[in-house]
Amino acid sequence: METKVVKIPPNRVEEFEKELLEASEIIKRGGLVVFPTETVYGLGANALDEKAAEKIYSAKGRPSDNPLIIHIANPEDYEKWCKVERVDLLEKITNRFVPGPITVIQKKKDIIPHTVTAGMDTVAVRIPSHKVARRLIELSGVPVAAPSANTSGRPSPTRAEHVIQDLYGKVDMIIDSGECEVGLESTIVMLKGDDVTLLRPGGVTLEELEETLGKVKVDKGVFEKLKENEKPLAPGMKYRHYAPKASVISLKGDEEKVIAFMKESLKDKGVGVICYREDTEHLPHDNRVVVLGSKSDTEEMAHRLFDCLRTFDSIPEIHTVYARLPEDDHIGLAVVNRLMKACGYTVKEL
Ligand code: AMP
Ligand code: MG
Repeated sequence: METKVVKIPPNRVEEFEKELLEASEIIKRGGLVVFPTETVYGLGANALDEKAAEKIYSAKGRPSDNPLIIHIANPEDYEKWCKVERVDLLEKITNRFVPGPITVIQKKKDIIPHTVTAGMDTVAVRIPSHKVARRLIELSGVPVAAPSANTSGRPSPTRAEHVIQDLYGKVDMIIDSGECEVGLESTIVMLKGDDVTLLRPGGVTLEELEETLGKVKVDKGVFEKLKENEKPLAPGMKYRHYAPKASVISLKGDEEKVIAFMKESLKDKGVGVICYREDTEHLPHDNRVVVLGSKSDTEEMAHRLFDCLRTFDSIPEIHTVYARLPEDDHIGLAVVNRLMKACGYTVKEL
């Protein structure tokens, strides 16, 4: 398939109406368009078209039991696609966090095909804030189903180059708008009865959710590795994810010991490290030393994590990557969650 790559700077969306119209025509006729959002790049198709949704699964190699998030432009449209049972909770979420990096799961209406929800009777809906995403959805006139635009199992794409590595030749169009701001996928919450449950941490933090909604339950899969017979509420959370080609091992423990361990390990040319900016003065100047962010800046770490993980794929001799595990409060919880999946829960305590 021929893939057209179009550059649209996010601050000049108005000048690219023609390109966005072309992209929306592709969506309307059942094709695939990769577009930027504030979280990561999304692989979009018409969510009301079963055949188009099937194309998403095959382009990504996504297991058919892993449902898609649908993207809409306006909160008034929630009712078109979901059965809203707790108007009060949805309103609180919308007033504070929407548009933005939060996805809400509620009972679905019949119009949403089962291919999109992987047979579930609920649907995940997000209203992105990225201007390119919003205009594309508006022009398409349909909800746009869009998982992260990576090959299944690989780190999610935060730059168009990542998308090109994984999906060039498999989609009709890729819109390149530079780096995604948040850098990790959306926070997912489920509304059911009186409960609000966090299924996946992301740009909206657990602390912020609790400030707005009171007590929020946290699905077990967010913090720990589940046993064979346990299932997370978000089916996608059970898969090995975000893995670069090398093995990843997370590092935890005493600051000096962690730095000494990284320094010693780097003597092996097959080792890379993902560390804090402050660590670099103790480590060799080398392309195998990759900065995740400043020690106390978990937002920067979120923004950079997937790019860091992909960096090592271009250094063929790397077989092992050691990554520092940050504190798990605020957006750090999402960074830790993704790193733990990338390393398959392998942590070295020092
Ligand atoms: P991605 O779009 O690649 O960020 O992945 C979407 C995530 O949302 C996956 O972990 C899915 O399992 C989860 N998800 C989507 N729809 C639902 C749903 N109806 N119920 C529970 N989880 C969902
Ligand atoms: Mg994904």
